Amino acid sequence: MTLKLSPYRNEPLTDFSVPANRQAYQDALQKMRATVGRTYPLVIGGRRIETDDTIASVNPARKDEVIGYTAKANREHAELALEVGWKAWEDWRTWDMDARARILVKAAALMRRRKHEFSAMMTLEAGKNFAEADADTAEAIDFLEYYARQSLKYAGAGETYDFPGEENRLHHIPLGVGVSISPWNFPLAIFTGMLAAPIVVGNCVIAKPAEDTGIIAAMVVDLMHEAGLPEGVLTYLPGLGEEVGDYLVKHARTRFVTFTGSRQVGLMINENAAKVQPGQRWIKRVVLEMGGKDALIVDETADLDEAAAAAVASAFGFAGQKCSAMSRLIVVDSVHDELVRLVVEKTEKLTVGSGEQDCNVTPLVNDESFEKVTRYMEYGRQEGKLLTGGSTDGSVGHFAQPTIFDDVQPGARVAQDEIFGPVVAVIRAQDFDDALRIANNTEYGLTGGVFTKKRERIERARRDFQVGNLYVNRKITGALVGVQPFGGFNMSGTDSKAGGPNYLEYFLQLKTVAERF
Ligand code: NAD
Repeated sequence: MTLKLSPYRNEPLTDFSVPANRQAYQDALQKMRATVGRTYPLVIGGRRIETDDTIASVNPARKDEVIGYTAKANREHAELALEVGWKAWEDWRTWDMDARARILVKAAALMRRRKHEFSAMMTLEAGKNFAEADADTAEAIDFLEYYARQSLKYAGAGETYDFPGEENRLHHIPLGVGVSISPWNFPLAIFTGMLAAPIVVGNCVIAKPAEDTGIIAAMVVDLMHEAGLPEGVLTYLPGLGEEVGDYLVKHARTRFVTFTGSRQVGLMINENAAKVQPGQRWIKRVVLEMGGKDALIVDETADLDEAAAAAVASAFGFAGQKCSAMSRLIVVDSVHDELVRLVVEKTEKLTVGSGEQDCNVTPLVNDESFEKVTRYMEYGRQEGKLLTGGSTDGSVGHFAQPTIFDDVQPGARVAQDEIFGPVVAVIRAQDFDDALRIANNTEYGLTGGVFTKKRERIERARRDFQVGNLYVNRKITGALVGVQPFGGFNMSGTDSKAGGPNYLEYFLQLKTVAERF
């Protein structure tokens, strides 16, 4: 029976100005707080496996609070996961596409019902405030609904011409068993999307979540099984990236690797996966989505108040810990002073504190990130003029003030390196052309934006701004699944466009069958 679904639409965001919604979120926080201290075992082929060694998931707003522990997989667990995955694949690959898609739709329905619980766990584990966590959950639901619908177009035959006396068919078939390695910054949406896509088109996935956010990932794995996913199709394998992640990337039996994370790790994975191991029978398919150094250009025709509001939202939402976050603000000289004044004014109104208290600028995820941001604040002092912020406070949590450096040179470290925190480099441009040159002067190419009223400049940016996701006269974060397919150029990755109409093809191969009658 063919799956019949209502048209796709994005999951609505929760309006937290409504007191009942805030209360519901507080209740969910309390419910999730009651789970603090639990240990989440590995899930391999229906078995829940405890390990001697564990990974602690720490509340970034209160460093002394452990939210829970996940098991820590080793090489034997990785071997077992591959064994179980390939066994499960024999059956899973034969399922009808619509039957697989139904599981995603069911998972979306379950997640929608418990929406605030998933979000609240991200508030505890990743430090997200209510709206940021809610958007992450909505995106996860979107990925499930969107990929369920997209999969159906690969159920039938692909397009071919007829040849007299023959039947010619083009089939989309799954690849096999792959590993999905995800980051902590969208610990629900990206984790969910990166496993749902390969799975719905008939692959088995070993999901290795980021070390900092293994608990929310465990909740997703439970949800997928509750939705009816057969055991063995999805393995939950938390562990260290450089240990179990690396082992799986290099393994001869790994058919594909889908990765989202830093440029440094992504490039290493690319290299490791390319090397053919003894006994390996295929060229591994590798999908990489990596970092950014995203710029917003503001010219002299722009609505400066709107531009300033968009800059602040793009730079400091989730403390700048988004691959799409604005970290370079490139302003045409004649409006520089006024724009910068407005940006600083709006920035200084932001509250810094925990997600549980629903502050605007929430903590950095871990010690490493805290140290990096602290270091780059020092570089910023050397390379520019501090306008606001400039300090970090690690006494209770990993807090960093929203920080703006003015008069930064385009080649400076704070203008070139991905900092992944609330730090903005303001760069002065002579005119729009100069601004576009500066914006493109990066090895990354993820998101970018322009604020201008000039039609010809908008068209110029459409053509010449080298980014995978370009935004005009709006903020540069918050891409919607199915509406703004997401992924970057150059060192930002393979531009696979998550949440886009071709994404599932990365997890499929084509087989042509010609029968002469
Ligand atoms: P990271 O590269 O440190 O880690 C990502 C994942 O890779 C983790 O699960 C980690 O355990 C694993 N890993 C680490 N070393 C490994 C190895 N040697 N072999 C295999 N796996 C390994 O990144 P992060 O700090 O978790 O995430 C932040 C980064 O992700 C930023 O650079 C950000 O821009 C990027 N990001 C990109 C996108 C996108 O769509 N382009 C989206 C979100 C985040």
